[in-house]
Amino acid sequence: MLETSIEYLKGVGPVKADLLKKELSIFTYGHLLNYFPYRYIDRTKFHKISELNDQSDYVQIKGILRKIDEQGSGPKRRLVGTFRDESGVMELVWFKGLSWVSNLQTGVEYIIFGKTSLFNGRVSMIHPDIELVSNANTEAQSMLEPVYSTTEKLNSKKIKSKDIGRIIKSLLQKIDEIPYHIEENLPQSIREQFKFLSRKESINFIHFPQNQEQLKISRNRLKFEELFFLQLRLLRTKKLRKTTNRGYFFQKIGDNFNNFYQNNLKFPLTEAQKRVIKEIRKDLGCGEQMNRLLQGDVGSGKTVVALMIMLIALDNGFQASLMAPTEILAQQHFKSISDMISGLGINIELLTGTVKGSKRKEILKRLESGEIHLLVGTHALIEDSVVFKSLGLTIIDEQHRFGVMQRAKMWKKTDSNPPHILVMTATPIPRTLAMTVYGDLDVSVIDEMPPGRIPITTYHKYETQRLWVFGRMKEEIAKGHQIYIVYPLIEESESETMADIKDLMQGHDMLSVEFPKPRYQISVVHGKQKPADKEFEMQRFIKGETQIMIATTVIEVGVNVPNATLMLIENADRFGLAQLHQLRGRVGRGGGEAFCILMTGFKLSEESKFRMKTMCETTDGFRISEADLKLRGPGNIEGTQQSGIIGLKLADIVKDANILNAARDVAMNIIETDPNLEKPENLPLNKFLQNIQSNQSFSRIS
Ligand code: ADP
Ligand code: MG
Repeated sequence: MLETSIEYLKGVGPVKADLLKKELSIFTYGHLLNYFPYRYIDRTKFHKISELNDQSDYVQIKGILRKIDEQGSGPKRRLVGTFRDESGVMELVWFKGLSWVSNLQTGVEYIIFGKTSLFNGRVSMIHPDIELVSNANTEAQSMLEPVYSTTEKLNSKKIKSKDIGRIIKSLLQKIDEIPYHIEENLPQSIREQFKFLSRKESINFIHFPQNQEQLKISRNRLKFEELFFLQLRLLRTKKLRKTTNRGYFFQKIGDNFNNFYQNNLKFPLTEAQKRVIKEIRKDLGCGEQMNRLLQGDVGSGKTVVALMIMLIALDNGFQASLMAPTEILAQQHFKSISDMISGLGINIELLTGTVKGSKRKEILKRLESGEIHLLVGTHALIEDSVVFKSLGLTIIDEQHRFGVMQRAKMWKKTDSNPPHILVMTATPIPRTLAMTVYGDLDVSVIDEMPPGRIPITTYHKYETQRLWVFGRMKEEIAKGHQIYIVYPLIEESESETMADIKDLMQGHDMLSVEFPKPRYQISVVHGKQKPADKEFEMQRFIKGETQIMIATTVIEVGVNVPNATLMLIENADRFGLAQLHQLRGRVGRGGGEAFCILMTGFKLSEESKFRMKTMCETTDGFRISEADLKLRGPGNIEGTQQSGIIGLKLADIVKDANILNAARDVAMNIIETDPNLEKPENLPLNKFLQNIQSNQSFSRIS
């Protein structure tokens, strides 16, 4: 029955049905039931005009519409209604739907509802919900009246929130009469555990609650449902992948690993690094394919962990690859790993888009013959022409910068089993987000910094304090240290344009005066340079020949220069928190004191101020990502775009973290005891899951 097209519903018909389909994607009875109100009007409360100020939240007022005047012209043309109750007068303002507004009657009592704001210096209501008192009384459906979002087109065709409410009401009545059951999709045990109402009651009450309490428990149950089925799906995918994909058995720890550990490793591993290596080793030796996410803040030492795991692959007769999102980062990895394994007789090569001609041919040949053991590179690695002899492990650094398709391609680089996959990220993701976005991966976290790191001191400074900044820079240089200066790109695009680097060029001119040659040397790096020039400038800085490096964000995930102690970020308000945190992590790698200066103009939005303040207060990547999540919402956090959270209708993974945790635990329990959802009590789950899966197509994370 829920598949029935809405046009067969009383009061809908083909014309309205067509509009609802086009405007709101409501095709069936089921869609209609799941079209939840976004807000409720408390019909028990009326406000007085004299009590209002521009801070008032949504309010309901009863009064008389005195007159409607036309004001302004062109795009500013508007209708202004004078609205009066016994306590005072206010204005109602409309910019759109003007013809509809002029049909309102003056001298008659209306109920208006909306948010107040200050317009032309007066408390006004812009685009209020408005209806005749006489209508409202007869049609009051419940004390908390549902408000459904509509579109302008629907409004103009007389399908307003109220009409949608009426249609849903009649559907619910019909369901009651025939008698049809809105099928329960949660097992009895879960319903009892959380004292949930039945699915049918919850859907009834979320549309037409009699009181706040009823609304709350209904919403909670439906939020749980939403999160629970998402988790069930993710955990099931994960389980299924493990049972269907056999993994290569890496049982042996051999010479590569042991020699590295005994002779080449220059520092003791942190406890966190050891723990993570242990977790990964367990994956590699259990016969299942590994799909693991390694989270660790910038500088926490992920590279050495990646290397040691790759050495295990080598010890077991396989090749391994490491893929990075940018040329610079790939080069950096290649160099640091080459250094770390020197003398061990391991063949390592670098393959990026700039490796061409005979060099490329030679690498591909040696890769296919198995002569190359480790291959480091950019997305050039996933090209079809890149064929391994026996790829056993792929590591993807800064994985969120790769698309799902690119990652999936790595799976196909082998003939039989897919390689083990480890994805790494330096953008710490709050736990609640991680278990949704990466819910089908195992997660390891390096939550400890190598010893001796002193937290970076961060300042927020304005243009007027430039002299102080120059002073700080000179102090650092006098100590023999180096400095990064970073400019934001103006537009996020694949390659930088000249406009993007204009600020950087001007900054360079200014600095050349303050920091003259030959005493001071400056490197400039940006996306408009030829790779060779870029490399040359980078090398000068890496070798310590230049003290200052001015760059666009190309250095964001690259470069490791332990001698750099000051990160100066220009127009810092143009960066997101995650990016600021990444950039700051470029300094202080030498173990000494390090600084970050955030430069901005005086005029800052509240949000920008909050970002600057957060950066000055903490260096904890997880705290910063929590703040970021609160500011921007889950849909905007890097790497979340492909996940199911975008489709959530009711639940908010920040505000509803408790419900999410509970849903995750319950889902985990079920998948562990009944992975195929075959037990009688789990059959409703199975059925419902199949239903939503056939209605949506979800992409795979890795
Ligand atoms: P990230 O996690 O950001 O990739 P890296 O792997 O680049 O961090 O490590 C940052 C720096 O810390 C490197 O210079 C690395 O050699 C060093 N490092 C890593 N692990 C340790 C450790 N256990 N003790 C001391 N230094 C370490
Ligand atoms: Mg790294």
